[in-house]
Amino acid sequence: MQKAKQAFYLILIHWTLVGCQNGFDARGINSFHLSSVEASLNGPENSDNEAVHPPPRSCFDNTQVNACLIFKNHITANNGPIYSSTSFSSDLTDFQTFEVNIEGTDSSGYLQNSDVKINITDGQRIKRTNNGDWKYTYKNNDSHRALAQTTSYYVINTTIQYLIARGGNPTQNLQLPVDALDMSVENNAYFNLATESIRIGYAHFTDFQQELALSTEVVIHEYGHAAMLKASGGATKYFNTNTNKRCISESSDLCCANANGCSVAIDEGAADVLAVFMYPDNPGIGNVLSNDIEGLSQLGVSRNVDSEMSLTKQQAFNAPGAFNSAYSDYNGEIHVMGVVYSSAWRLTWLSAKDAGLSREIEEIFLEHLSSMTGNDTFSTALDKILTIDRAFYKSRHQQRFLDAFATKGISPTIRP
Ligand SMILES: [Zn+2]
Repeated sequence: MQKAKQAFYLILIHWTLVGCQNGFDARGINSFHLSSVEASLNGPENSDNEAVHPPPRSCFDNTQVNACLIFKNHITANNGPIYSSTSFSSDLTDFQTFEVNIEGTDSSGYLQNSDVKINITDGQRIKRTNNGDWKYTYKNNDSHRALAQTTSYYVINTTIQYLIARGGNPTQNLQLPVDALDMSVENNAYFNLATESIRIGYAHFTDFQQELALSTEVVIHEYGHAAMLKASGGATKYFNTNTNKRCISESSDLCCANANGCSVAIDEGAADVLAVFMYPDNPGIGNVLSNDIEGLSQLGVSRNVDSEMSLTKQQAFNAPGAFNSAYSDYNGEIHVMGVVYSSAWRLTWLSAKDAGLSREIEEIFLEHLSSMTGNDTFSTALDKILTIDRAFYKSRHQQRFLDAFATKGISPTIRP
């Protein structure tokens, strides 16, 4: 098995270097508080509806559900690396034990509604099977990558429902276009800021090829960029070019200018936070690319927050990048810096979870998306987080946030 773990995969936003037009703008408190249904991506082991899902039956025989997906991805479902030579023609039906109902599609017959629209470049858009359900098997002739399509629709809609239950839907009525498979995108997926659409490629190694959409945490990560963009009123399109810079002059990849962080790294970290919120027991990002529960490693830094709890902003900024001399100057690479941010949120969330209050952290997280601008650093982001906590919960979580961010070497600019 050719390991991808050491390689440098971006899972990126398609950035264009434009100057920051936005000033410091701490708007957004209570900007979108609605109430709605609860939703989460619970694995089968966490299911609380055994009465509806009798365990002995195969998902494909269970008439109570209309889709048989893979929980998170087949590496996670397998609780470890899968066999080598997995490819588009492999049989993954044994992993399709995640029994769900795909709901909310509009009258078009396709996987779309007012919030999201599943497209596909390499395949045809699917409709329901002849049985009236969405139970497509992944083997041999899944020529339209039906599982990639159903999975993308399901996880994005579930994530939207999760956000609605915590205060609002930043991408409401956007009919966010999602390309479930574009074979011209190798080992990557991204949110295109110009077209405001998600484009998902495939994992491509010599003995391993798979739709990256099957790594559903990556799909959620990309959706997180859409949520940040819309919640912030487009602020992430315009970032401060003093704090966000080209990593090296000949590359369009972005790096923070210093260890204090930058808005694009906050965006990357927040996208990971959302994926970890949706899979709190399985926080690795990029399992299908790495063939590893741990997820990706970039410049020696894991994209699994639980492995980077003690990572400081300075350590992340100085991440060695020793695997490839071409990237030796990538100090401050935004995904690596993003792990500083995501692990700070994870520490806060775990602390609140111990107190039975983790949901409040999730609500603060959603609200803070709307306050971000292209000028933010880790410290100004923390200022805004504390302001929201004060407004929402009378600073109940202030010390949690201060302690978690202090572990990263981050303090607020305004002493609370
Ligand atoms: Zn990203």
